[in-house]
Amino acid sequence: MRRIGIVGAGQAGLVLGIGLQQRGYDVTVFAERPAEAVREGRLISNQCLFDPALQRERALGINFWEAPPIREVAFAAAGEGAEPAISWRVGLDRPAQSVDQRVKVADWMTEFERLGGDLRVRRVTPDDLDERAREFELLVVAAGRGPQFDALFPRDDDRSPYREPQRAIGILYVAGPLDAVPGLTFGMAPVGEFFLLPVLSVHGPVHGIGFFGVPGGPMDVWDGVADVDQHYETARKLLRTHYPWQATLLDNARPVAPTEMLHGRITPIVRHPVGTLPSGAKVLAMGDTAVTNDPVGGQGANMAARAARAYHEAIVDRGDRPFDEEFMHDAFARYWHHARHATRFNNDLLAPPPEHVLATLAAAQRVPEVAHRFAHLFENPADYEGWLGDPEAAMAYLHAAAQR
Ligand SMILES: Cc1cc2nc3c(=O)[nH]c(=O)nc-3n(C[C@H](O)[C@H](O)[C@H](O)COP(=O)(O)OP(=O)(O)OC[C@H]3O[C@@H](n4cnc5c(N)ncnc54)[C@H](O)[C@@H]3O)c2cc1C
Repeated sequence: MRRIGIVGAGQAGLVLGIGLQQRGYDVTVFAERPAEAVREGRLISNQCLFDPALQRERALGINFWEAPPIREVAFAAAGEGAEPAISWRVGLDRPAQSVDQRVKVADWMTEFERLGGDLRVRRVTPDDLDERAREFELLVVAAGRGPQFDALFPRDDDRSPYREPQRAIGILYVAGPLDAVPGLTFGMAPVGEFFLLPVLSVHGPVHGIGFFGVPGGPMDVWDGVADVDQHYETARKLLRTHYPWQATLLDNARPVAPTEMLHGRITPIVRHPVGTLPSGAKVLAMGDTAVTNDPVGGQGANMAARAARAYHEAIVDRGDRPFDEEFMHDAFARYWHHARHATRFNNDLLAPPPEHVLATLAAAQRVPEVAHRFAHLFENPADYEGWLGDPEAAMAYLHAAAQR
């Protein structure tokens, strides 16, 4: 049995760990906290998963939850007055869902151990890695975003257009009756975005509402917000001010619990995925540790699921051969084949929308086919490059779609 070590029990690390354990590999996952501490901990994400990622979880038999299905996308862009300048709704061909990562991680840790996996609760530091690398034939670092492994996996300048966070993020889980579509409500304004979606959280069914403010602008408001009540009032004020057609959206809802808010800023970054330890041993980055995107496009957890699949297949295809540097570059290349699309789509969402994108969003109000195609970019960002990523192609498509 080949011995695989994975640092980090998140969406990426646990899906890889469970998948390999099911295939007969001898897998160890290092988790920062035990399952119950994760379940009782603070909010982590909004974690909307689209169909391809959900299919992978179903194929592994680990989509254990009945979450409210996300069947529709309702998009609106602010205009001059109280009504949105653009507004449309469209169904998703296959529903998305959001299951609180605290629920998933805690349940998956239990499942991983049930399958015979070795779950060790300890925070692995960069200095520990050499000792860990001696223990395993392959060591994967799936420890999420942030600077802790900066030196090991430096920034890939060619693939990282931003050096600073592009949004000030505030997420709140609320409960109570909401006048919203059974799906994803998305609002766009020059100062930032908001979205609302149903979530199966540790508290049962709730809604997550997220605001993404351009730094330094009027939606960059979260730094001084101390508790959920202040967050709730701030969120209502943002709705009244920047999305007036949604002014009353939260009036009948309330924050779920004091833990259920999250503030932050994330610098999008792609890293060189193969790290060299002082001993010369190589380690492979995965998930957010390798590629971190701003959550505005809802891609990160979906990408983590993709990474788990790509690395799983690369490991199985490797057979008995060594997990050397060449293997690691190949595994990441398989992942990047998809991740580059999600990354480009997500990074472009952070920039002011160019004319052809605004024209597309406006046309979506009149032409359902355009709305359908736009909404499905979130599950299929590979469609972006040859369409909205190319102004000429986008305008040609709009012309053709309007004729149909
Ligand atoms: C506000 C917000 C909203 C989001 N919304 C969405 C969304 O709607 N859709 C979407 O697809 N994505 C979303 N994301 C992104 C998504 O949550 C992440 O991209 C995804 O969780 C990445 O998975 P991961 O396994 O790579 O990292 P993580 O989920 O961060 O998991 C890493 C794990 O490693 C552990 N760890 C860290 N350091 C160590 C260490 N030194 N030793 C041992 N363990 C360690 C951590 O405790 C954690 O359990 C959102 C993120 C945020 C912040």
